[in-house]
Amino acid sequence: MSELTRRGLMTAAATVAATSAMGPLFSAQPARAQAASAAGQQAAGWYRYKVGDIEVTAVTDGINRFKFPDTFVLNQNRDAVNKALEAAFMQKDMMEIPYTPIVVKNGGKITVIDTGTSEANFANSKGAAGQFTRNLAASGIDAKDVSTVIISHYHGDHINGLLKADNSLTYPNAEILVPAAEHKYFMDDAEMNKQSGDRMVGVFKNLRRVFGNAEVVKRVKTYDAGKEVVPGVNAVATYGHTPGHTSHVVSSGGKSVFVQADITNVPFLFTRNPGWHLMFDQIPDMAEATRRKTYDMLATDKVMLQGFHYPFPAVAYIEKTSSGYREVPVPWSPTI
Ligand SMILES: [Zn+2]
Repeated sequence: MSELTRRGLMTAAATVAATSAMGPLFSAQPARAQAASAAGQQAAGWYRYKVGDIEVTAVTDGINRFKFPDTFVLNQNRDAVNKALEAAFMQKDMMEIPYTPIVVKNGGKITVIDTGTSEANFANSKGAAGQFTRNLAASGIDAKDVSTVIISHYHGDHINGLLKADNSLTYPNAEILVPAAEHKYFMDDAEMNKQSGDRMVGVFKNLRRVFGNAEVVKRVKTYDAGKEVVPGVNAVATYGHTPGHTSHVVSSGGKSVFVQADITNVPFLFTRNPGWHLMFDQIPDMAEATRRKTYDMLATDKVMLQGFHYPFPAVAYIEKTSSGYREVPVPWSPTI
């Protein structure tokens, strides 16, 4: 056989394509696999691992794919963003932002951290997002058994899933725990009335819709940063992305995972370039300082990271590089 060359690869690919068009290679596929592929659906997306005695399930809500605006990174132009996308083998001019809420099971108590974009968004996005409750059910967890929902901050992708499409509660038996600093800021009418930009006006309007729901109001309690929120889950103030943005550390038996929420958005842009300011970072300089401080700690202490906007299952370690940091995905484990 000849050496592997670029031309050889192309020829091989063409041969496979021709063969598969004729059928013999793939004609023995089971009928069910063909049906699933015909419907364009992926297998249910959940991934489970242990942190000491605690069981964590990362459950995908899907991905938001869109043509990004020139202002997507406030202090970089489109060319620089496209260059970073190209380096990550991603499509130019398109942004793909995954959503990965998690579920923490400690003893009999089930806690959801952040909710995803909501069931209603499943239809709106033609199934690309709003998948959280379906994947949660597929993982064997009943939404009725969830006793606590912890919210990191008040952006729609983290809170909209509190409500179903008909505005009833997704988790009818759960208390809803929200960061005290975040709640104080966003429920302040004076802060709301200061806003003029479309995006911030929309952020306020959306969170007032969710937290104005009578059933949600009955269940909301605030929690303070620096304290244990539920057994095994501690809150950490990571302000900047929003004024009260809060992260969480899940720990048990000397092990822990840092659940960052939005300290970075997608890692292929913002972990690798911590000085880049995402248009959704409300206080960009504070967000950057929080990002650098947290990632220095994660890299030095070799703490495992669960990143809401990381590619599924969104679990990685962080190492330092000359220009910032690099995410090293945790290998998939076939057993829990
Ligand atoms: Zn987010």
